[in-house]
Amino acid sequence: MKKSRSQGLLVSAFVLAQLAWMGLLGLWIYWYVSNYLIFKQVGDRLSPRIVINSPNVFIFVNGIVLIVAIAVAIFFFFRHLSIQLKLTNLYDNFIANVTHELKSPLSSIQMYLETLDLKDVPAEKRKEFLGLMMKDAQRLKKNVNSILEVTRLEQKNIAHNFQVYNTGTVIPQLMNDSVEQFRINNSSVKFEGTTSGKCVIDKDAMQIVFDNLTDNAIKYSTQQVEILVKLYQTRKRIVIEFYDKGIGIESKNQKKIFNKFQRINNNNIPNVKGTGLGLFWVKEIIKFHGGKISVVSEGNDKGSCFRVELPIYQTSRKFYINSLLRKAARKEKIMETTDGD
Ligand code: ADP
Repeated sequence: MKKSRSQGLLVSAFVLAQLAWMGLLGLWIYWYVSNYLIFKQVGDRLSPRIVINSPNVFIFVNGIVLIVAIAVAIFFFFRHLSIQLKLTNLYDNFIANVTHELKSPLSSIQMYLETLDLKDVPAEKRKEFLGLMMKDAQRLKKNVNSILEVTRLEQKNIAHNFQVYNTGTVIPQLMNDSVEQFRINNSSVKFEGTTSGKCVIDKDAMQIVFDNLTDNAIKYSTQQVEILVKLYQTRKRIVIEFYDKGIGIESKNQKKIFNKFQRINNNNIPNVKGTGLGLFWVKEIIKFHGGKISVVSEGNDKGSCFRVELPIYQTSRKFYINSLLRKAARKEKIMETTDGD
């Protein structure tokens, strides 16, 4: 209710501003033309020779340019305002989601601990409880990390430990680590293709990318998760295609899902919780590596394919990639000096 009222106010203010500047433009043209006619009549009467025959185009154009500039400024001002409003709405949802995401694993851990403390739980059940608590603790850690990482993202301080890696080795390694972390059955994950190109990668940051894509593939599947990772290279890029057979993403949402705090509600899986930060985080990390990410899906229940492209060290824009390596070397040097102290 509050949101739609503020949006209505914004639209009314925008319309009023547009009417105001159009009125201003009309007045200016009216003022200019009538003054020109008066001056011309007076001039004609006094001395026909000093009257310039054509209207003063310079002043006329100047006035119009000024008014159009004001209109453009108003447009950008309102556009910025509307983006801020959208972000505030998303942020409100984020706070609600994050509160739930932090509270629910904590309450669950507390409940298991209380049971273990108060009752004489058999060894087998105790093991099961410990496993569940471990899972909850992991979920909690992931959520806290993703909140902390947003600040780092905003300071463009996401990744710093860049090194040159052989992608044919490092990409399957990263994927295997994710599979292990999420305890997915090995037979549910297939890997196709290989590459010989090298990339400059921060392994920890890239692990976050694979973890998020894997986590989402699990979260947004109604049945047993099935993942296919295809790896190949073009002249300048290493391409990683990450397919799942989950609930899919409608085309109108495919760009949106990479925005900060953005979540899409799907009635097929109504209770999946999240912060809306995972893919934003993924996109920023890939961008920082000089690459890009996109998603393709044929729609609801048709699965999704996330396509990550990374620049090949040997053939791509060397300047940016080398600057990443230089930054990493500088950071290592600083750390060595501090360790030495
Ligand atoms: P979260 O999972 O915390 O909501 P993300 O940024 O990871 O945040 O994802 C944003 C949205 O994108 C999700 O809310 C979901 O609707 C959609 N999404 C992400 N990955 C998938 C996927 N593999 N299949 C279907 N939808 C997905």
